Amino acid sequence: MQIVLLGPPGAGKGTQAKSLKSYFNLIHISTGDLLRKAVSENTKLGVEAKEFIERGDLVPDKLVIELINERLSKPDVSRGFILDGFPRNDSQADILDKMLQKKNIILNYVVYLEASEEIIIQRLSGRRVCRSCHENFHVKNMPTKVEGICDICGGELYRRSDDQEEAIRNRLKIYTEKTESLVDYYSSQEKLLKIDANFDAPVVFEKLKSVLL
Ligand code: AMP
Repeated sequence: MQIVLLGPPGAGKGTQAKSLKSYFNLIHISTGDLLRKAVSENTKLGVEAKEFIERGDLVPDKLVIELINERLSKPDVSRGFILDGFPRNDSQADILDKMLQKKNIILNYVVYLEASEEIIIQRLSGRRVCRSCHENFHVKNMPTKVEGICDICGGELYRRSDDQEEAIRNRLKIYTEKTESLVDYYSSQEKLLKIDANFDAPVVFEKLKSVLL
């Protein structure tokens, strides 16, 4: 099974991707995670991408496509995968179609997670991430046992620089301007599955399973 997760920042793409990954034994490919890793490792690509990510702007297509192409060339993708955060504009969608065609891979579904702006802002502004294992928490919806410390590995929690209010607003604007059109793009390919993602993560996952199974 090959799936794309589409939706605004804060719709729960990362959280649902993790559940899908373990339930269906798929590979989770998140361009946001790949980019943040490149930034933390100070690679050439990471240095170039850093300022775009911090502002909440899209990183130039060339860099993201380089990352995706490299990742989709690894043998483990034959298990099936979830693309989380890619594509994010029309030209990335077009390039993805061509890349998959070349590799003889079929994209089965594009799951569109829909959430209201109020829910999105509440989720993103309370999100905290572990510096070591990258697990996500939330100050209200999923608090850790000890404030600021990861329940899983004991690492320090931080607030992503693009989860500050100004960057959140910019990411939402960019989503509307550049990404939302992909709903029509995949709808016309008859691949789109729409899910109401305004609920808690386990409820959304049940809905997701029911449309995929
Ligand atoms: P995410 O973790 O998916 O919210 O992504 C965090 C940030 O990484 C985004 O705000 C962008 O700056 C960058 N990013 C992730 N995926 C892409 C993409 N497909 N195209 C361009 N920039 C991306």
